[in-house]
Amino acid sequence: MDLRISFATVSYIAAIALFILSLSGLSQHESSRRGNTMGIVGMLLAMIATAALVPMDGYPALFGALIPGALIGSLLASRVAMTSMPELVAMLHSFVGMAAVLVGISNYLGPNHGLSGTELTIHDVEIYVGIFIGALTFTGSVMAFGKLNGKISGKPLMLPGRHLLNIAMIIAVVIFGVMFMQSAHTGGEMAHEGLMPLLIMTGIAGVLGIHMVMAIGGADMPVVVSMLNSYSGWAAAAAGFMLSNDLLIVTGALVGSSGAILSFIMCRAMNRSFISVILGGFGTGEGTAPAMSAEQQAGTYTSAEVDEVADMLETAKSVIIVPGYGVAVAQAQHTLAEMVKLLRAKNVNVRFGIHPVAGRLPGHMNVLLAEANVPYDIVFEMDELNHDFPTTDVALVIGANDIVNPAAQEDPTSPIAGMPVLEVWKAKIAVVMKRSMASGYAGIDNPLFYKENTRMLFGDAKKNVDALVAKLKG
Ligand code: NDP
Repeated sequence: MDLRISFATVSYIAAIALFILSLSGLSQHESSRRGNTMGIVGMLLAMIATAALVPMDGYPALFGALIPGALIGSLLASRVAMTSMPELVAMLHSFVGMAAVLVGISNYLGPNHGLSGTELTIHDVEIYVGIFIGALTFTGSVMAFGKLNGKISGKPLMLPGRHLLNIAMIIAVVIFGVMFMQSAHTGGEMAHEGLMPLLIMTGIAGVLGIHMVMAIGGADMPVVVSMLNSYSGWAAAAAGFMLSNDLLIVTGALVGSSGAILSFIMCRAMNRSFISVILGGFGTGEGTAPAMSAEQQAGTYTSAEVDEVADMLETAKSVIIVPGYGVAVAQAQHTLAEMVKLLRAKNVNVRFGIHPVAGRLPGHMNVLLAEANVPYDIVFEMDELNHDFPTTDVALVIGANDIVNPAAQEDPTSPIAGMPVLEVWKAKIAVVMKRSMASGYAGIDNPLFYKENTRMLFGDAKKNVDALVAKLKG
C-alpha cells in the first residue's frame, strides 16, 4: 500500500502541474491544442492514481461507474453541436454539484475516522458548506441547461419581493447550519441527528439555485454558466476537503477561480456588472429573436449582390472580417478560410476582428477559425484593431449582429448601452452578411444596417461565401 500511496502522491503533483500548464496553454490559440492535451493527460493520471488507492474489492464498483460514465460522456461530447456546447457544459456542472451533495451526505453518515474536537467541527463545516454549494450548483445548472436549450423560457422570472425571498432563504440556511452543528454528533457516532437539518438545508439550497437562475434573463445566461462553472469548482474543492484529497482541492480551486475570472471578463465585455447579473432581471432573450417588423425597423437599408461585394473585396487594400454566431450556424469557417487565402493571394490585407463574446461561448470564433486553419497572425482581439476601422476599405460582418451594434455607443437607453463593440461603421464601407433583418441574441434592432455606407448581403453565410469564392476564383 505504501508504494501505491507514493505513486499516487507523485502522480497527483504531476497532475496538478499538468492542469496549471493546461490552463496557461488554453489562454493562447497557438498553444490551445497542447493545453488541451495536457489537461487530458493530467486527468488520466489523476484517475489512474486515484484507482491505485482503491482497495481491490472496490474495483467492481469503481469500474461499474467509470466505464458507463466514460462511454456516455464520450458519446455526448462527440455528438454535441458547437452551438449547443454551453448546454452541455451546464449539464456537466450539475453533475459536479450533485456529486458534492452525495459526497457530503455519505461523509456525514460514514465513520468519523477518529476526528474529535476542533477537527471534527471543521469537518462538519466542510460537509455543510460543500452540500450547500453543491445543491445550489446542481439545481442552478439544471435551470441554466433548460433555459439554454429552450425547454424553459429565457424570460427572467421576477417574483415580487424576490431579493427578500433570497435573503430569507440564506438566513434559514444559517439557522439550520447552527442546528446541524449542535446536533451532528449528539447520541454517538452513528446517531446522525444532524441529518434532518442537513437535508432541509439541501432542499433550501436547491430552491435558492432554481430561484436565482430563473430570475436571470437569456441574455445573461453565458455569464451564469461561467459563474456556475466557478461554483462547481468550489463544490469540487469542498468535496476535496471532505475526502482529504489534495488533488481535488487544488483542481476545484483552479476551476473555481478561473470560472470567476471568466465571468468577470464576460461581464466587462457585455458591460454588465457582476452583481447586476446575479440579481437578475436583464434580458428578454428567448434564444432566437423574431424578425423585425416594418415599424420596428428604424430606417431603410441598401442591399448588395455577391458580384458587387466580390468586386469591393478584390479592389480593397485592407479588409477586416468580423465573424459572429451566424458563421457557427452556417458552418462557413472553411469556405471563409478559402476566401481569405484568395484575397491574400491578391495582396489584400485581410484581418479578423474578434469580439470577446462573439458567438455563444467565449472563444467560439477562435475555435472555428483554428478549425479552418486560418493563420493566427491575422486574428486580432477587438481592442487590437478597433482603431484601424477608419483606415479600412471594407469591414465584412458575417453572421454577427450585437457585437457590431452602434447603439451600444450612440443610444444610452439601449439595453446594450456601454457594451464595447467593433466599430465597423467607421470603415469606408461595411458589408453585413446575414439571412434577414432579424435581430441578434439581445433581441434589438441594429442601426448599422441603415447607415449610408452599409450594404446588406442577404442569405446563408456559407452559401454566400461559397459564391464569393467562386467569383474571386473566376
Ligand atoms: P448575434 O446573435 O447578435 O447575431 C447573429 C446573427 O447571425 C443573427 O442576427 C442572424 O441573423 C445571423 N445568422 C444566423 N444564422 C445565420 C446563417 N446561417 N447565415 C448568416 N447569418 C446567420 O451574434 P453575435 O456573435 O454578433 O453576438 C453574440 C451575442 O450573443 C451577444 O449578444 C452576446 O452577448 C451573446 N452571447 C455571447 C456568448 C459568449 O460567451 N460568446 C454566449 C451567449 C450569448 P439572421 O437570422 O438574419 O441570419
